[in-house]
Amino acid sequence: MSIIGLVIKSTGSWYKVRYNNGKTILCKVKGKLRLKEAQTTNPITVGDIVDISIVDDKTGVIEKIYERKNYIIRRSVNLSRKAHIIAANIDQALLLVTIILPETTTTFIDRFLVAAEAYRIPTKIIFNKIDIYDEELMQEVHRLKDIYTKIGYECYEVSAAKGTNLEQLKTLMHNKSSLISGNSGVGKSTLINAIDPTLELRIGEISSFHHKGKHTTTFSEMFELEFGGYIIDTPGIKSFGMVDMEKKELAHYFPEMFAYLDKCQYYNCIHIYEPNCAVKVALEEGKIAPSRYISYLSLLDEDENKYRAAQ
Ligand code: GDP
Ligand code: ZN
Repeated sequence: MSIIGLVIKSTGSWYKVRYNNGKTILCKVKGKLRLKEAQTTNPITVGDIVDISIVDDKTGVIEKIYERKNYIIRRSVNLSRKAHIIAANIDQALLLVTIILPETTTTFIDRFLVAAEAYRIPTKIIFNKIDIYDEELMQEVHRLKDIYTKIGYECYEVSAAKGTNLEQLKTLMHNKSSLISGNSGVGKSTLINAIDPTLELRIGEISSFHHKGKHTTTFSEMFELEFGGYIIDTPGIKSFGMVDMEKKELAHYFPEMFAYLDKCQYYNCIHIYEPNCAVKVALEEGKIAPSRYISYLSLLDEDENKYRAAQ
């Protein structure tokens, strides 16, 4: 008899699967499944929905994996072309942004959003540390909020340290699996601790484990939130790398540019020097924010190796 479950931890050859509303069991993967996904180093990842069969009290076998709605990968550092899947079925990414201490640049934000678009992970932008911003810095928050809200990214203002607007975030995260990202120092740990104090301890253990070296990169884990939902902790929790894409594809991942793409004169327009470029016209008319266009140019400028470097 097979039972449906959710993979919540991956340690290479064993997977911890949650089933029947809270039971967990360690599973191996059925041999046949391994072969199917030969282009990746791991057939199963955290977030996968699977069918398992129970072997005994403590162990089971993963018989089947359901289709993933999305997943993020990192490329192997060695020369093999295999990719390592680090998490699947991610409901949302929450990108933490601070105006100062540290400053999060729009290039950083946009690079993340492009990757998230390419991976089909809906992203929300969380402006943290609002307790330390004066009027001028709050204006900057609102200017950015305006840019990103218009594109379609929901924005939130919080203070993880003071607990401001955290109920909103909890509602956002309720019963979803969320990836929390952002520059070092923006308050990811503080936020996680504030929304669920039991979590930080558990995540802290595994995160420090990752730092010991690349040999541990097969470990990723989903942590259950006490109010319902999951936080995905992977070696890529802080930022994940760019996916490979063609230059002319890049604009597809800027949702506000997408609408203009079929109006450019040249089908292979990359929206820099070409005549009758609808994207440039939209930029001049103020329909595309200059900072977004600058990010577009800087991403375009990166060579293929750099696209992969962040991983
Ligand atoms: P992480 O590297 O993203 O995990 O950031 P941390 O959670 O370690 O936070 C970095 C620093 O920012 C710590 O000193 C926190 O106390 C501080 N911090 C985090 N959130 C806030 C906030 O909302 N307001 C203020 N004033 N400080 C914060
Ligand atoms: Zn164009």
